[in-house]
Amino acid sequence: MSRELYMMNNYGERDLVLTEGQGMFVFDESGRVYLDFTAGIAVVGLGHCHPAITVALVKQASTLVHTSNLFIHPLRDEVAGKLADLSKMDKVFFCNSGTEANEAAIKLARKYAYQRGESNRTKIVSLPGGFHGRSLGALSITPRPAYQEGYAPLLPRCQSAEGLEQTLELIDEDTAAVFVEVIQGEGGVRVVPNQLLQQIEARTRQVGSLLVVDEVQTGLGRTGAVFAFEEAGIRPDIVTLAKGLGNGLPIGAVLATEEIAQAFTPGSHGSTFGGNLVALACAKVVLNEVSKPEFLHHVREMGDYLAQKLRSIGLVSHGVGLMRGVALDNPQGFVARAKEVGVLLTTAGAGCVRFVPPLIVERMHVDMAIERLSTILPL
Ligand SMILES: *Cc1c(COP(=O)(O)O)cnc(C)c1O
Repeated sequence: MSRELYMMNNYGERDLVLTEGQGMFVFDESGRVYLDFTAGIAVVGLGHCHPAITVALVKQASTLVHTSNLFIHPLRDEVAGKLADLSKMDKVFFCNSGTEANEAAIKLARKYAYQRGESNRTKIVSLPGGFHGRSLGALSITPRPAYQEGYAPLLPRCQSAEGLEQTLELIDEDTAAVFVEVIQGEGGVRVVPNQLLQQIEARTRQVGSLLVVDEVQTGLGRTGAVFAFEEAGIRPDIVTLAKGLGNGLPIGAVLATEEIAQAFTPGSHGSTFGGNLVALACAKVVLNEVSKPEFLHHVREMGDYLAQKLRSIGLVSHGVGLMRGVALDNPQGFVARAKEVGVLLTTAGAGCVRFVPPLIVERMHVDMAIERLSTILPL
């Protein structure tokens, strides 16, 4: 039973009212506590109401919230510098979401080709099963009939193959950019083979196209590396980020090499809220934490532990680090039952339950979740 009378129905029926959060836990209006293995869809990496985030947020909120990009603020360039440093990219554009980051990346790739006089290089290739967002541009490179239905005509010349491997055949001299996720989050936590990613990179170099790695979900420690592309052995031209970047504050970013970034000239792209100071203050804390080797080590260790404990109750998981999926016939049913026993989960794709807890999860939380989940098995 939904109690929302004025909200559009695009999220469907939900019944849980959450009013507080603390670390790994969230509380509903009656005070019941849940272990949160959704983290606001892989967003709240440092956990709910992390003290350092709260301090940074309150401090910035009581100093200066918003000026837009009409003016300089040192925090913006500081966070951009840290992102550039961590990714070995050169330049950064701030926006407010993953969709906006990918939208900007599409435009940047197209503009870069245009500036080089390659007026035919307008094709964008993406992977089958990929997810890049909901704006018309980002949706055009999200080859999922259920998401695209009713929105035609979409952006022209966006292509994806039937199978992952066939992607290589689509990449040609007309291709402005190829968008990939190293692990397809919404696509069922599907790990794209490193070898294929490397072949795609080689193909883009061969034909002069750009490689865009969408790290909106995989980035910022989720897989046990700051960026998943590092482990995949590929070097992107453009990286997009959002989800975990602000630990819940809306912020996205596009990172690019110097040469490509110069295609954005004054006035060619923008965002009123992009680079919002409160969101940046939180991003600074996040980047500080997730770039620590011991933090990343913890993520890998907890990812292995979660996989091992899931296996102990007969659930075989796939994925990397703390981005894991379990293939099930009725994922919605499992998520509903899990909620009843106090574990919040979400689905990913048609046949998969997704485990994306806050990255600060400890063994005791995994143990608690597994113990509770074991009571609803077998389904
Ligand atoms: C969530 C997601 C997006 C869209 O991000 P929003 O912030 O919802 O706009 C894009 N790409 C990937 C890989 C995502 O997981």
